[in-house]
Amino acid sequence: MFENLSDRLSGVFDKLTKQGALSDEDVSVALREVRVALLEADVSLPVAREFIKAIQEKATGQAVTKSVTPGQQVVKIVHDELVHFLAGDDANAGELKIDSPPAPILMVGLQGSGKTTTTAKLAKRLKEKNKKKVLMASLDTNRPAAMEQLAILGGQIGVDTLPIIKGENAVAIAKRAKQQATLGGYDVYMLDTAGRLSIDDELMAEVEAVRDVATPRETMLVVDGLTGQDAVHTAENFDERIGISGVALTRMDGDGRGGAALSMRYVTGKPIKFVGLGEKMDALEEFHPERIAGRILGMGDIVSLVEKAQETIEAEQAERMMKRFKKGQFNMNDLKSQLEQMQKMGGMEGVMGMMPGMKKMAGKIEDAGFDDKMIKRQIALIQSMTKMERANPQIMQASRKKRVAKGAGQDVSDLNRLLKMQRQMGDMMKKMGKMGKGGMMKQAMN
Ligand code: GDP
Repeated sequence: MFENLSDRLSGVFDKLTKQGALSDEDVSVALREVRVALLEADVSLPVAREFIKAIQEKATGQAVTKSVTPGQQVVKIVHDELVHFLAGDDANAGELKIDSPPAPILMVGLQGSGKTTTTAKLAKRLKEKNKKKVLMASLDTNRPAAMEQLAILGGQIGVDTLPIIKGENAVAIAKRAKQQATLGGYDVYMLDTAGRLSIDDELMAEVEAVRDVATPRETMLVVDGLTGQDAVHTAENFDERIGISGVALTRMDGDGRGGAALSMRYVTGKPIKFVGLGEKMDALEEFHPERIAGRILGMGDIVSLVEKAQETIEAEQAERMMKRFKKGQFNMNDLKSQLEQMQKMGGMEGVMGMMPGMKKMAGKIEDAGFDDKMIKRQIALIQSMTKMERANPQIMQASRKKRVAKGAGQDVSDLNRLLKMQRQMGDMMKKMGKMGKGGMMKQAMN
């Protein structure tokens, strides 16, 4: 088995500082270990390299949450980035385009990848989940056994298969499937193309010809998740020649760490839509990026630890602020944490968008220039103040104002606006604080 990344990291990080922001050095040390973990999980070297580079830029300078180590923090960042990347922008993971019946779905992949099994699994899913009438056809004219296999699976799941006619070629079968699907009122017809042991020109030419007569709505590549680098190579080849629309990753019930998923996503840019988790007909799931990310890193525990630590700290902070507001205290430090909170939630628009009836307001505030950039400028002003000024903003007189504004590269008028905002918000907080814990304040904080 693989050595757990968390074990390996903990040794490295015991020596490092436990507070403040992540330094270049912290991040580099952590990412060296992460890189090894990625490679062990079968992520290809160029992909691992590029991925690490992107994270390096992202992680450096990020604040380390109290009560976790920098290493743990880096792992969380890596994890989130992995999830983000694996998920992509595809809102329809786990769905197939099956509009305009009969919708053709082309199934492609190497022999033994699980293509026939996945075809039947998907047909079952379309039938049961999407309530579609499905027809399956095997195009594997070289292997009568494969054609038989699809017919048997069809019988098991109650999905029709196109009758086998001996001597017919793949293109002719595809045409007949289309005809039958149209005449028979099918919503979807699935074409299980022939596989080979490795990519060869003849195979590709055949699949191309089938693609051209079928004009599929989806071209799903089935790849064995255990084959690592080879899977990536396969995906690249099929995408170049045939053009795939999505990937089904099989044998993810095995020991493999699933790094191929990341590489494949990177290289082809195509979404992984389904994951095969066994031989049975219902052992198919839609793709959950966070599961694969956890598997690649082998450290779900650290991710949840960091999440928990962040939640606890946020809750503590919220509680502390509640107490202050109730007493009518609201200084520049409070304003700064409010602004930071806003930034985290996607600016003013994000915050307002979460409150019912506030969406329209958000637009107006945006217009007034209260956007993300503005928040950054305001935080810069606060950072330019001394500790004493932040705690007691009422002492801000002309000379102090000049110094602070200059320090933040802004005008005194900008600072005046900020001071006014702090006073107004302070007044508002005082009033809301009086409304009690269950009042609006709590909502605004959460
Ligand atoms: P094809 O040659 O690509 O059509 O591959 P098959 O569909 O015939 O599958 C080859 C073998 O892999 C069969 O024994 C399947 O039961 C098995 N198989 C397919 N998908 C999975 C999976 O997700 N997990 C496991 N454990 N076995 C699978």
